[in-house]
Amino acid sequence: MMLEFNSLDDTTAIFTIDDIQPAFANSLRRVMISEVQIFAIDSVKIYDNTSALFDEIIAHRLGLIPIITDLSTYGPTEKCTCNNKEDGCAGCSMTFTMSVEGPKIVTSQDLISEDPAIAAVSPNIPIVKLEKGQKIVIEAVARFGNGQKHAKWQPVTICGYKNMPCITIAPECDGCSHCIEVCPMNILEGSNGKVRVIPERNTLCSLCRLCEVACLNSGIDTAIKVETKPTTFIFTIESQGSLKPIEIIEQGLLILKNTSDELIDALSEIKE
Ligand code: SF4
Ligand code: SF4
Ligand SMILES: [Zn+2]
Repeated sequence: MMLEFNSLDDTTAIFTIDDIQPAFANSLRRVMISEVQIFAIDSVKIYDNTSALFDEIIAHRLGLIPIITDLSTYGPTEKCTCNNKEDGCAGCSMTFTMSVEGPKIVTSQDLISEDPAIAAVSPNIPIVKLEKGQKIVIEAVARFGNGQKHAKWQPVTICGYKNMPCITIAPECDGCSHCIEVCPMNILEGSNGKVRVIPERNTLCSLCRLCEVACLNSGIDTAIKVETKPTTFIFTIESQGSLKPIEIIEQGLLILKNTSDELIDALSEIKE
């Protein structure tokens, strides 16, 4: 088994895992979407709201603001020592306050947290426009949750995979270039009167098979063939900003490992 990053930055990751079964690839995808926990605003006390929006709409908008989640300092309530499943404590929740008066456009940077390291992922997310004299005074608490409970706790905006493309060119290729012209990902090029795959662009193949159709239409019996490696998967992840992609992958793998460990323990107890 091998994991290799094709690209990695603070918001996106493209990586290849070799020698795994489709069921494992799908399990990893699903836990990253629905089980990795992050902060999101979960309860809001509204002390004053004379804006044009109802309290519920403002609370809903606050809940959808991505919040930076520092897993080295904070953790989910069920793993916290506070044992306070309802409200949490300073180790598993974060309180934000906001007191603003118009005229102004209230944005996510108006949310002031107890810990300066925990803030909205972007300071420019608009919440409501206040006219002169309108006010909002609130207290909001962010808690941990996962995408199973609500989409606001889903750490990824993109999380999917495809099998590794495997494109072969038969010796019958006459270099007519029709496949090159139709390829939307520009991964084919002419070479010595034939066509070849540009090696560094191979993983970009979308498996659309337009090249095969073009080759058939040119009169040659499928000189190009698009197949996939069934046990090699290319994952693409885009974070909504709460966690870095590498943290999401790590947390997803830990969840799979811990779930397996729990099942092994349960099985051991039955055997004893
Ligand atoms: S399957 Fe589509 S993307 Fe892949 S090489 Fe053929 S035309 Fe290009
Ligand atoms: S369309 Fe077929 S014959 Fe023409 S260059 Fe592509 S693979 Fe070769
Ligand atoms: Zn706690």
